[in-house]
Amino acid sequence: MDLSYILNELGEERAQYFNAVAPPIVQSSNFAFDTVADLRRAFADEMGGYLYSRGLNPTIDILRKKLAALDEAEDALVFANGAAAIFAGVLPFVKAGDHIISVQQPYSWAQRTFDGILTRYGIETTYIAGTEIGQFEAALRPNTTFIYLESPNSWNFAVQPLAEVAALAKPRGIVTLIDNSYCSPLHQRPHELGIDLCMQTATKYIGGHSDTLGGVLTGSHTHIRRIFELDYLAIGSGVSPFNAWLLLRGLRTLPQRLAHVSRSAQEVIAFLKGHPKVGGLLYPLDPSFPQYELARRQMTGAGGLLTFLLKDGTCARITTFCESLKHFLMAVSWGGHESLVLPKCAGIDPAAFDARNPEHQYIRLYTGLEDPGYLIRDLEQALEKV
Ligand SMILES: *Cc1c(COP(=O)(O)O)cnc(C)c1O
Repeated sequence: MDLSYILNELGEERAQYFNAVAPPIVQSSNFAFDTVADLRRAFADEMGGYLYSRGLNPTIDILRKKLAALDEAEDALVFANGAAAIFAGVLPFVKAGDHIISVQQPYSWAQRTFDGILTRYGIETTYIAGTEIGQFEAALRPNTTFIYLESPNSWNFAVQPLAEVAALAKPRGIVTLIDNSYCSPLHQRPHELGIDLCMQTATKYIGGHSDTLGGVLTGSHTHIRRIFELDYLAIGSGVSPFNAWLLLRGLRTLPQRLAHVSRSAQEVIAFLKGHPKVGGLLYPLDPSFPQYELARRQMTGAGGLLTFLLKDGTCARITTFCESLKHFLMAVSWGGHESLVLPKCAGIDPAAFDARNPEHQYIRLYTGLEDPGYLIRDLEQALEKV
C-alpha cells in the first residue's frame, strides 16, 4: 500500500463526520443499540462493532487500520503505552510451565515482566545474546512456546537474524514477538521476515511530539483476535480516544520527521567520530558497527538514536559532559521533537560504576528536529568542558 495513502486516507470515512478533514475524537465510553438482537450480536462478537470503548472505538479504529497497514499486517491493537502492548502480546501465548527465550537486556519493563511477574506462574525465561541463530537453537526446550526479540536493542543496537528465528520457531508452533520500536515500520518490516507479532511503543516515533504515550501490536487476524477477546479486554490497557487522536496527528509527519532525525544523526556521528575525546560509537547502520551487514539486510534506516563513549569515560567526566549540554535535554524516551541525552551511569549506583565496563560508559543521544549544526555546536562546547 502507498505510504501517502495510508497516512492521509486509509480508514478516514470523512463523509460520516461532516467531511471534517481531521478525524473526530469520539469521546464516548459506550454505544447505544436499537434492538436486543443487535445488542446480542455485539456481545457475541465484540470485535465486530462498537459496544464499549474498552474494546473498540471509532477514533482508535482509524489508527488501528493505519498502523496495521504500515506493518503490512492484517490487524493491530493500540495500547495506552508500549509496556502494556508487551504485556498483552506475551500473556496470551504462555501458560504455567512454559519456557520463553528472550534476547538479553530487552526493554527494562519486558525483563521485569518475565523475571518479576511470569515467574510467579512458573514461566521461566532464558536470556541469550541472540546475535546468532545457534544461540536460539541451543536455548530451545520442549516447553518453549515464546521467543521475545528486540532488534535493534535501544542501547547497544544488537540485532537478531529475524528470518532465521522465524524459520526456527514456526514449525515448532513457537510464537515470535519483536519490539520494533527502534526502527518503526518505516525502517523495518519484521512480518515480511516471518515474525508473528510486531510491537512498538507509539510514545516514540509515532506520537513524535512527547505529549502522549501509546503502544502497538500488529499481527494476523487470528493472533490479534486471541489477544483482544480476553487479555486486551481484561487488562483494560487500551489507548484513550484523545491519545489515539494525538497519535494520528503524529503519524501524518512520520516520514518527514524520521528522514530529518536520520540525516541529523549522520551529521552528529560524523562529528563525534572525528572528535579526539570520543572513545567509541554505536549506530547499527554505521559501517563500524559489529553487525553492520545483518542490520543492513534487515533495516532500511536507523533513525535518530545513537550511543557513544568518552575516552577515559569516568562517571565524573560523563556527568560533566551531560550537564554541560544546553540544547540536549537530559531525559528518558526519544522519538520526539527535542534532542535528548541519557547517560547509562544515571541508572548505576556510583559505588558499582566500573570504568572498565564499556556499557557503564554509554551515553545515548537522540537527535530531534533541531538543525544539526545547532546540535553539533552544543556537543562541541560540552566536549570542551570534559
Ligand atoms: C519506550 C520503550 C518501550 C516502552 O514504551 P512505553 O510507551 O514507554 O511504555 C518499549 N521498548 C522500547 C525499545 C522503548 O524504547
